[in-house]
Amino acid sequence: MPGFSRRLFLAATAGAAAAPALAQVRPAPAPSAEVDVAIVGAGAAGIAAARRVILEGRRVAILEASERIGGRCITDTAIFGVPFDLGAHWLHAPDINPLSKFSATAGVDVYPAPRGQKLKIGRRYAREGETEDFLATVVRANRAILDAARGTTDMSCARALPRDLGEWKGSVEFVLGPFGCAKDLSEVSAADFARSGERDLDAFCRQGLGTLLSKLAEGLPVQLGTPVLSIASVRNGVEIETPRGKINARAVVVTASTNVLAGGAIRFAPELPKRQLDALQKLSLGSYERIALEMEGNPLNLQRDDLVFEKTDGIRTASILANVSGTSLTYVDVAGSFGRELASRGRKAMTDFAVEWLGGLFGTEIEKSIKRMHATQWFAEPFVQGAFSAASVGGQPSRRILMEPLRERIFFAGEAAHEMLWGTVGGAWESGDRAAVAALRFSGVGAAPAPEAKPQKPTRQRREPRAQTRPEPQQPTFRILRE
Ligand SMILES: Cc1cc2nc3c(=O)[nH]c(=O)nc-3n(C[C@H](O)[C@H](O)[C@H](O)COP(=O)(O)OP(=O)(O)OC[C@H]3O[C@@H](n4cnc5c(N)ncnc54)[C@H](O)[C@@H]3O)c2cc1C
Repeated sequence: MPGFSRRLFLAATAGAAAAPALAQVRPAPAPSAEVDVAIVGAGAAGIAAARRVILEGRRVAILEASERIGGRCITDTAIFGVPFDLGAHWLHAPDINPLSKFSATAGVDVYPAPRGQKLKIGRRYAREGETEDFLATVVRANRAILDAARGTTDMSCARALPRDLGEWKGSVEFVLGPFGCAKDLSEVSAADFARSGERDLDAFCRQGLGTLLSKLAEGLPVQLGTPVLSIASVRNGVEIETPRGKINARAVVVTASTNVLAGGAIRFAPELPKRQLDALQKLSLGSYERIALEMEGNPLNLQRDDLVFEKTDGIRTASILANVSGTSLTYVDVAGSFGRELASRGRKAMTDFAVEWLGGLFGTEIEKSIKRMHATQWFAEPFVQGAFSAASVGGQPSRRILMEPLRERIFFAGEAAHEMLWGTVGGAWESGDRAAVAALRFSGVGAAPAPEAKPQKPTRQRREPRAQTRPEPQQPTFRILRE
């Protein structure tokens, strides 16, 4: 869930402005064994790519391994009876996010996220001075990482941190690392961190972000339960093997996650070059899991969509998003090495942690208010295997490598294939649209121009506080910004 630069994002969305409006998308002809572009995966990138191919009047096949559309952006309504985003929930930069412009036609409500966040110190809220101290430390940490990223040799964000973060070290490391990048800062490239820019505005979708995405897939000829087993380069295109038969296409857009691809779930013939394999390894997915609690009577005494962190000196911490969209759901998100370790111990260990941890912050009596709980296991989803990609040290250029067309017929797309918006639904969407344009052009079946090369200046804005949101006396709030 990294941030991004608005300026660069605007440049990047120039092509997407012409993306098809919902009503314009018509179902493609029934999937046949011969198509112009095949798309592997029906997550955000795959949906965007498919819409582009259809808009250009070309034949498409969309092959989705799982039994559902949306990939890592999916809203469940069965577990709690209200929208529950199992994966992506925040709509970053709603004013320019490629998805938000569809909200009205999709019939969903997008509303601004509250600008304040709260900081807990044990059972009490941080005082104003403590909050300011914490924010100043976040600013220093951010700047140090940005400074390091300007150097000639990449290093880990952890190595770039000032040595004197003092009592705020644990919280700062959690907010910038696991919470923002799904990895501990020791595993994150300073260059990659610096490329993702500011995130100063966010929104939520009342019906769930996955609901919005699924509306954008309506009418698309997605073949569910169709895992792609192999992609062979043949004369004039590719031959794609699935358990349901073979499909020939002039080009293929592959949106499966980096972990799925690196694990060899799809066999390529000829094999993927070392250059691409290395890139996939360096862009491995981090861990980000959600424990949702349905609580009666607002026992945490928080407002709708309040975001809360705790002051911590260890890594056993989490974030809280309370009363999600005004429902009785609260999300406790765990991430990074702790999230990975906890999730590997199973759902019960995750919900036990959430209850105990919330009890420590709000009082053990809150347990009585908990009606139902659910914990995600993204790391164990066979067709995803993690959360999102933060590059390892030296891995930032891998994003460009992943975007290179392979043999002029294989085009990788997805959140990892975006230099600034990696780890976001908007980035995945952009990447899918861009890959589809390139696939059509290279395969000679589309007249669409190739996307312009994006400005590649490193961004410099990182999370820094803005003093506009003053802490309230009882429950002080703060805002982390990148200016
Ligand atoms: C818990 C969590 C919280 C997040 N929070 C946010 C957030 O708040 N905001 C935000 O913007 N982003 C967030 N993200 C990241 C965001 O969800 C992803 O960046 C984005 O959804 C990725 O889209 P994608 O299309 O690249 O990949 P995916 O969504 O993974 O789609 C790829 C698709 O390919 C399919 N597939 C895989 N292998 C095969 C195969 N062999 N054959 C056919 N199909 C295959 C998969 O089933 C999947 O449907 C979060 C992610 C997680 C896990």
